Amino acid sequence: MNYDGKIYRPWPEANSLLIQTTLGCTHNKCTFCDMFREKRFRIKKIEEIYNDIDEARQICRQVESIFLIDGNVLALKTEFLLDILGNITSSFPECSKIALYAGLNDLRRKSVEELKELRQAGLSLVYTGLESGDRMTLKRIKKGLTPEQAEEGMAKAKAAGIDILVSIIFGIGGKERSREHIVKTTKLLNIMKPEQIAPMVLAIQPGTELEKQVEKSEFIQATPLQILEEEKYLLENLADFDTMYWGDHGNNIVSSKGRLPASRELFLGKIDHAIANHPVTKQEVLLTSPW
Ligand code: SF4
Repeated sequence: MNYDGKIYRPWPEANSLLIQTTLGCTHNKCTFCDMFREKRFRIKKIEEIYNDIDEARQICRQVESIFLIDGNVLALKTEFLLDILGNITSSFPECSKIALYAGLNDLRRKSVEELKELRQAGLSLVYTGLESGDRMTLKRIKKGLTPEQAEEGMAKAKAAGIDILVSIIFGIGGKERSREHIVKTTKLLNIMKPEQIAPMVLAIQPGTELEKQVEKSEFIQATPLQILEEEKYLLENLADFDTMYWGDHGNNIVSSKGRLPASRELFLGKIDHAIANHPVTKQEVLLTSPW
């Protein structure tokens, strides 16, 4: 298998076979992100991708789940992606899930018909980064996405029957916009109704623009107590749509994983307990590990 550069995959894909189709990210400008800074976006040659699929088939007896990397794989032309999905499903007939990373703008730029074709070809889950539903926060972090664009991308995926995981970041609004960030994020999630939500705590990645902003005090990090209050607000105010909540990222103060709204009271109980008792609530800044 040929993997170029540093490889990232979402933590729920820990047991998936990774097939690299692109290098880097077409956007590569988000102030908090270090993932693909060293890579120029490029599409791998189809022969290279097929060779990796063949090699993986020889090595792996049973593959239930496949994740396509690197960043925004959905930026690929639909025909190209259909060829890859066709090769995967004929090589791994036992595979029940194919997922990839995509920007909500990548979903928005495809037609519903194209997305339906991709769904029929085996694409079942797309991981997207919303980070925040707050327009000002999205602008400050240079996400290149508006709340309206996020909503449109999500609506197209729903119309095509593709499940969406939306990741959001606790603390991304900083100390000053903590409340606006979580109120507007919750409001947008209630419109989007994603099938899965993955909230994670902001980690300041070395070498990023955000790290420089922290050093110059242009970005003041939310306190651990504010981060817990953001999660409490989210859990209290998410509407009653069925979704999988992946609140178990390694940097999160409280680890909660399960279905909502069924587990709402359980998760809220953990947050309330942490707010009352966890020693981090006395700290100004939460210590996190780079991802
Ligand atoms: S957060 Fe996503 S869209 Fe932004 S630079 Fe990183 S990989 Fe690209």
